[in-house]
Amino acid sequence: MDLLIKNGTLVDNVGMYPGNLGIVNGKIAVIFQGNKGYSADQEIDATGKLIFPGIIDSHVHFQLQDMGNTISTDSFASGSKSAAFGGITTFIDFADQTRGESPLKGFHARRRVADGQVAIDYSLHISKTDLEFLDEIPELIKEGVSSFKFFTTYSWRNLDLTDAQLISFFKEVRKHRGFVIGHCENDSMVQYNRKQLIDNNKTDAIFHARSRPHLVEEEAIQRAILLARRTRVHLHLAHISTKQGGDLLAQAKLKNQRISGETCPQYLLLNEKAYTSPDGYLNLMSPPLRHTKDQQALINHLSVGTIDQIVTDHCEFSRDSKGGGKLPFHEVLNGIPGIETSLPLIHELLVNSRKITYPQLIQLLSTNPAKLFGLYPQKGSLQIGTDADLVIFDPKLRQEITPQTLHYNIDWNPYTNFLVTGWPITTILRGGILCNNGEFVGQPHRGVFLKRKHLNYMSI
Ligand SMILES: [Zn+2]
Repeated sequence: MDLLIKNGTLVDNVGMYPGNLGIVNGKIAVIFQGNKGYSADQEIDATGKLIFPGIIDSHVHFQLQDMGNTISTDSFASGSKSAAFGGITTFIDFADQTRGESPLKGFHARRRVADGQVAIDYSLHISKTDLEFLDEIPELIKEGVSSFKFFTTYSWRNLDLTDAQLISFFKEVRKHRGFVIGHCENDSMVQYNRKQLIDNNKTDAIFHARSRPHLVEEEAIQRAILLARRTRVHLHLAHISTKQGGDLLAQAKLKNQRISGETCPQYLLLNEKAYTSPDGYLNLMSPPLRHTKDQQALINHLSVGTIDQIVTDHCEFSRDSKGGGKLPFHEVLNGIPGIETSLPLIHELLVNSRKITYPQLIQLLSTNPAKLFGLYPQKGSLQIGTDADLVIFDPKLRQEITPQTLHYNIDWNPYTNFLVTGWPITTILRGGILCNNGEFVGQPHRGVFLKRKHLNYMSI
């Protein structure tokens, strides 16, 4: 046996139990209790620790080229390394179609940037920004991409699809048994509000939130749900930020619509007060931060299973890239870091407060994303024969979050001074130890591209 993890408590999506776990050739080979006489090349004593399946973050932007020529501060190499420190073993990034250009070409270009660079396993979604090249969808699915993102906003960046285009797009994706991911905000409302605010010199960070009030998200989600229902495509709602968004997802599920949704740690832990500090501009993201009542509603939707998963929408920019506080809100690059702190923050917020159980934590952060995005059972569980992607988690370790203790390339963090009890101490990718007690000890570029399965609509 290559590696034996002894005396820990195994936690998966259905339960938790004391046990030992043995790894052979990168796969989970044996799970047992007591002393069965196994020996291994390497042993880890996990007394007092929890053993989770590797965490999956299915909404990440590394090395993102945003407005103009600014590229986000982390590369695939550095970003995936910080992810590993946070217990993440798989991430899904995006290959954005440039309007008028082939998404298949964009997909291969993005792979050329990421392949051979990543510390953990990864996959890609395609962002579709026009109706050209719809005929490439079957080819993309063959390449292992089953999920196609659309935007209902960002017309000023040539990213949005009109309602009529969405219908054709949804039908085509459905035909080939892929599914769609919606960034849902009402474009004309955002444009109108922005203009009103800018014309009145209201350009501080807080006005970013005012330009995208709750109705902006609620209307666009409702419309996307209707169009997806009529075209019978599976709709996944990206980064739900409002109570109304969560409620609409719940209603659609009650009607047995094929639908799923995600939210992010920032919408659970931060609120729009974060825009009023001198550093408020750093927290600009879309959708924006909301109110405490939205946080509570989203937590309720997570605890009862309406919202299926938590992702980070990680997108890291330096203070300088974000304009150093000197730019009007509509010129500030959107995005915050989050991939390294997601597991400990969600553990603190939801498990330590007993709002969810440990198996629910694993559902939200590992099993559900693996199932939804076509990676299960290779990823997302602790079953024999599956990839030995594991996190050893110390539920008693107290940490204060600061930019210095994390591994990003920036000197700020939205969760600075947050205190958590519980921290990932060892991260294992396909049997190889990547991080141990704050040190990166693995091969830096061992991650591979994962071809994902597409949805089986027949089982609905
Ligand atoms: Zn995003």
